[in-house]
Amino acid sequence: MTTQTLSLSGLRSDILALAAVGLIGLGIVFVAGHAQAGALHDAAHDVRHATGFPCH
Ligand SMILES: [Zn+2]
Repeated sequence: MTTQTLSLSGLRSDILALAAVGLIGLGIVFVAGHAQAGALHDAAHDVRHATGFPCH
């Protein structure tokens, strides 16, 4: 009983952590994809060139 409760709460916090990470990831994708797309694209583009990553 005790073990079951412990593993259940452990599973629950794992799910919470995954949900939080997923939300943060979705937020980053949303912000990068939709908000200030030009500025973020330029910044990413500059970083790509600065690191020598082939781009165009
Ligand atoms: Zn480029």
